[in-house]
Amino acid sequence: MPEFAEPVFGYTVQDHWLLSRVTRIVTAMSLATRTDQFLGHTRSEACGHAEGETTSEPRPSTLETLSPSRAADFKQCPRLFRFRSIDRIPETPSTYQARGTAAHLALERLFDLPAEKRTASRLFDLFREAWTSLRSTTEYSGLFETMEEERAWGIESLGVIANYLTLEDPVSISPLDSELEMSEEVGDIVIRGILDRLDERPDGHLVITDYKTGSAPPERFALTAFFALKIYALLVRSRFGRTPAELRLMYLGNSTVYSIPVSDRMLDGMERQLLALATAIRRAISRYNFPPRPSVLCGWCSFQDICPAFAGIDNRQARETQLTTNN
Ligand code: SF4
Repeated sequence: MPEFAEPVFGYTVQDHWLLSRVTRIVTAMSLATRTDQFLGHTRSEACGHAEGETTSEPRPSTLETLSPSRAADFKQCPRLFRFRSIDRIPETPSTYQARGTAAHLALERLFDLPAEKRTASRLFDLFREAWTSLRSTTEYSGLFETMEEERAWGIESLGVIANYLTLEDPVSISPLDSELEMSEEVGDIVIRGILDRLDERPDGHLVITDYKTGSAPPERFALTAFFALKIYALLVRSRFGRTPAELRLMYLGNSTVYSIPVSDRMLDGMERQLLALATAIRRAISRYNFPPRPSVLCGWCSFQDICPAFAGIDNRQARETQLTTNN
């Protein structure tokens, strides 16, 4: 097991390039919400709004931009979408999110190195450096109460990062781009997001890879997890005029890769689905009607305490799912 010790707890990172990347990625991870052009309220203000209620609070009247992850929110549960994107209720960052952000930074940086330097020890160093930068940001400062908690989290995180090296050999990979900012018009809406990695296979076909630091869901739920990646494939086709051949979800938590092939027919269907979703979101906004859609995914939801539907679902099942596959 790699060590997670000094200098991770110091503020000694000299690499300003990395610091600027940290800022960009942390900003980007909340970009989806901000670019949805919605107005924010506090949690207590939002809780006071009933469906269809007239209020003096300013509310968004339209939808101009959308991110793949916010589109996935609405598809999963319109009330979740409302809490996150309309009411913009602050969510407390979790240790899982912190691990995900630091891991994405480390993997992005890894592929900026010459192939022969992409070693395990360098990857661990990159993770430590990424966390050293993140831990002092507004979002993540105060995440851990004690140094011991932080250290235990760090050691566990390095174990998760080590799993990456069991899934592929970074020496043999030459990504076309990492953390690629996408912004494309699809019909009458702009879709924006950040794509983890775009590769070109030796046969010339494009592959989109998305890293997850959690564990893979059971296979019967795997296809649902590709929803956002299919939107990214649509954006890639729109920007580069090339249809990706493959989408990959790489779960570092339990060293699992799910992969599906892509076709133009699939992406045409995705485009229709996306436009229908945008219409449904606009209708929901105009009526301020976002019904909750409880499911096993409620186990991951940050808004359980204010959701009127959460108490009515099988919480035990949701919590068990959360414990086993927390992302
Ligand atoms: S707890 Fe479930 S039903 Fe309620 S907002 Fe969250 S995902 Fe939707």
